[in-house]
Amino acid sequence: MTTNLLDFDLEGLTAYCEQLGEKRFRATQLFRWIHQRGASDFDQMTDLAKSLREKLKSRAHITALPVVTEHVSADGTVKWLFDVGDGNAVESVFIPEDDRGTLCVSSQAGCAVGCRFCSTGHQGFSRNLDTGEILAQLWYAEHSLRKRFGTEDRIISNVVMMGMGEPLQNYSALVPALRVMLDDHGYGLSRRRVTVSTSGVVPMMDRLSQDCAVALAVSLHAPNDPLRDNLVPLNRKYPIAELLDACERYLEFAPRDFITFEYCMLDGVNDQPEHARQLIELVRARGDGKSWCKFNLIPFNPFPASGLLRSSAARVTEFATMLSNAGIVTTVRKTRGDDIDAACGQLAGDVKDRTRAAERMAKQRTIPLKQVS
Ligand code: SAH
Ligand code: SF4
Repeated sequence: MTTNLLDFDLEGLTAYCEQLGEKRFRATQLFRWIHQRGASDFDQMTDLAKSLREKLKSRAHITALPVVTEHVSADGTVKWLFDVGDGNAVESVFIPEDDRGTLCVSSQAGCAVGCRFCSTGHQGFSRNLDTGEILAQLWYAEHSLRKRFGTEDRIISNVVMMGMGEPLQNYSALVPALRVMLDDHGYGLSRRRVTVSTSGVVPMMDRLSQDCAVALAVSLHAPNDPLRDNLVPLNRKYPIAELLDACERYLEFAPRDFITFEYCMLDGVNDQPEHARQLIELVRARGDGKSWCKFNLIPFNPFPASGLLRSSAARVTEFATMLSNAGIVTTVRKTRGDDIDAACGQLAGDVKDRTRAAERMAKQRTIPLKQVS
């Protein structure tokens, strides 16, 4: 089996080139061809010696994931379903905004955390993606969008690890992928514009702060342990106090001076004034009176098996106002790509089911651009 060069960060590719008896700077050239130019054919890489290209052709390849479906929403959001084999698929979503382009990337097929309000969690865990499979989502999205828009300019300015899976439970594949995102010879994204979202894997938050301190979002969803134990089962292992301690430690290394807390608004479950009051107390007890976190309230995207409902808009506003009045910066997430089921927690991936679902959606409401299987 030959090696997929998408699996390497620059250090790994350099070691690989050295094994082939090549100079280190060749790795940088190759890396730039792959990630900056989107090349997958060694013959395109005209500034590499023919002998090196031949060597690479016989031992390596640059292969993204097969695209099962690609859908474009009326608001410009694009969702891809990628086949990762054995009946599994993962999704990535591109969200264009006036001043940025954000790609939401998956880290696992399924997820072992099993949050009650998350359809990925309800599927269970299939497997970790490897570094190449995480990066393939960005590589494909960036370069296919450039082609579509007829530009050589960078399209994706922000990456959020908020697709399927718990990124900090796939740490060893995640970190090299993040390094490629940040590398000036790769995607050159700033640490502030790459966000890892976690349900709270405390020891790995500490490791991330040392290995690759990108922006951090923490999925809190509840202001007390009994409720969080129920919604996010990982809380039984790392309860709220330990999680918030880890957030404070992370802040010393973080590229921004705040942590973002995500809070999914569930009707009658975690959206009462009492819950807002408890959150305010949690926040005030830390940070020495300084503002150290923000809240992002996410209206729940319902799916039948959850047995949960979305909080009313009035309740979300009331909750947001309570937090804001207490001096906590609070935003309510806009839902984007609703017509293509591209919203948080709707990313689910049995390839057979999803292919059928995607085909159904395509017929009903979306513009299928192409379907490659
Ligand atoms: N596993 C990581 C990242 C992926 S989930 C994490 O949990 O943080 C990305 C975000 O979507 C998380 O905040 C998650 O709690 C939220 N989410 C999951 N299911 C949702 C749903 N049905 N409606 C709204 N948000 C949801
Ligand atoms: Fe996993 Fe995140 Fe979904 Fe929880 S919300 S089940 S951690 S993907």
